[in-house]
Amino acid sequence: MATTGRIKPPLGHDNKWWWDQVAAGTLALQRCSQCHTLRHPPRPMCGECQSLSWDSIPASGRGTVASFTILHHPQFPGYQYPLIIVLVDLEEGLRITAGLSDCDPADVAFDMAVEAYIHEDADGFRIPMFRPATGRKI
Ligand SMILES: [Zn+2]
Repeated sequence: MATTGRIKPPLGHDNKWWWDQVAAGTLALQRCSQCHTLRHPPRPMCGECQSLSWDSIPASGRGTVASFTILHHPQFPGYQYPLIIVLVDLEEGLRITAGLSDCDPADVAFDMAVEAYIHEDADGFRIPMFRPATGRKI
C-alpha cells in the first residue's frame, strides 16, 4: 500500500505505547486492570468503571469486515490507490480501522474474514494492516 511518505500519527502519552507495540510487531489491545474491559483506540480511562489503570494484551488479529470504503481521491504522495480501508470486528469484540491489502477492491465484502499483519514501509515505519484471512499469524 504506502511505501514511504505516509502521514505519521501524532504520538502522545495515551497512544505512544500502542505504536511502540506495533513497531515491535504486536497489535495490542488496551485492557482495564480493574474490570478487564478491552478498549480501542487507546485512551486513559475505562469507559465501564472509570479506572485509570490498564495493561494490554496482544490481539489475535482475526476478524471480519464490518464496513469498508475505497478511497480514490484525494491522492497523497506515497500511497497506491485505490486504498481499501476496512472497519474490522476483531474476535475479541472490538473494532479497529486499518488498510486492507492483497485484495482486489471488487472483492471486498461485508463479513469477509480478515487477519492483521504488521506492514513495514520503506522508511521503516510499521503499521497494522489487514489482508484476506489465510490462517497465518501476525
Ligand atoms: Zn474498567
